[in-house]
Amino acid sequence: MKIHEYQAKEILRNYGVRTPRGIACFSVDEAVNAARELGGDVWVVKAQIYAGGRGKGGGVKIAKSLEEVRELAGEMLGMRLVTHQTGPEGQTVRRLFIEEGVKIANEFYVGMVVDRSSQRVCLMASSEGGMDIEQVAAETPDKIHKVFIDPIAGLNDSEALDVAAKIGIPESGRGDAKQLLKGLYEAFDEKDASLAEINPLTLTADSHVLALDAKMNFDDNALFRHPEIVELRDLDEEDPIEVEASEHDLSYIPLDGNIGCLVNGAGLAMATMDIIKLYGGNPANFLDVGGGATAEKVTEAFKLMLKNPKLEAILVNIFGGIMKCDVIAEGVVQAAREVQLNVPLVVRLEGTNVKLGKQILADSGLTIISAGNMADAAQRVVIAAAQKT
Ligand code: ADP
Ligand code: MG
Repeated sequence: MKIHEYQAKEILRNYGVRTPRGIACFSVDEAVNAARELGGDVWVVKAQIYAGGRGKGGGVKIAKSLEEVRELAGEMLGMRLVTHQTGPEGQTVRRLFIEEGVKIANEFYVGMVVDRSSQRVCLMASSEGGMDIEQVAAETPDKIHKVFIDPIAGLNDSEALDVAAKIGIPESGRGDAKQLLKGLYEAFDEKDASLAEINPLTLTADSHVLALDAKMNFDDNALFRHPEIVELRDLDEEDPIEVEASEHDLSYIPLDGNIGCLVNGAGLAMATMDIIKLYGGNPANFLDVGGGATAEKVTEAFKLMLKNPKLEAILVNIFGGIMKCDVIAEGVVQAAREVQLNVPLVVRLEGTNVKLGKQILADSGLTIISAGNMADAAQRVVIAAAQKT
């Protein structure tokens, strides 16, 4: 799960990470009032969307008067902000963050991710702040310093000071940097983050170290113990199809192809996509209905797949282990009737009560192409999709 910059900064402040002062707003008037309340004479108007690269796309601008704040807020609210992370269609700006302007002496990069091979949180830091870190990693990997953090001890003082020195934070700022890095790790660990990134980390003209930008993603599997994070979810920022899928507890990921796949179990779903590819087809989605799918869930899954205008055939590939094939067959029949299926449907069932399941499909009167095994099912669905086009 992702959150906005202003929300990430609020979390991080609770862990001792320093940031500029700022206020989130939803309207032009609120933005002007926020600037007035913050005081000072330079403000930064920042579009809040779940994508980075806002600065380059015109989503981060400096204002030197309240009138300018009004003008910029008016321009930004409602605009479709296109950045290298939004894709060409962009993302509509619905929230702004008004922040006090900071005098920047230098910009750095710090980020944390879970590193699977070392099974630790990896702190990455670089002197190349404000830039696209992927580009730094590709072109000048020696400019990225890594610390693999011991999960028991946490990030210790000497590691934090050492990395601050390596990226070129001057002596006078290292105490601040140490506090920030330790706070960042503590927040990452306690909140079950999957990513935390501060780009840029800034050294101000008066030698303070501040987080000027903040990004945090969270492990969906740990959200059950963080209701305070779930509360921050902004559904406007998420793909509506994926939101709908998550409401029904379905794992659904849209892809570019034309063959819809409805499968139980992530492993079988991956194998199904592979075998479709093997026979020259292209999957339209990844969809795992899970182990305990009910007829209703199967119906919702069909509805989701059918929202894709590119869909030209569906392959249902179910192994009835925990789940029984007759239950699935009933779900498939019910769903096919309810959604008035207009694309060819290939079904491969195997496992518990398979005979009964197949009988239900045969008796339904629906045109269902029954397949004997996975290879057979994949070949049939690829042919069916090709004939449709
Ligand atoms: P993004 O990464 O989406 O482009 P950032 O929050 O990193 O957005 O902002 C882009 C740039 O704008 C930063 O690299 C920094 O130079 C500048 N900036 C952001 N916030 C402030 C601020 N409060 N004061 C001064 N400059 C800022
Ligand atoms: Mg940034």
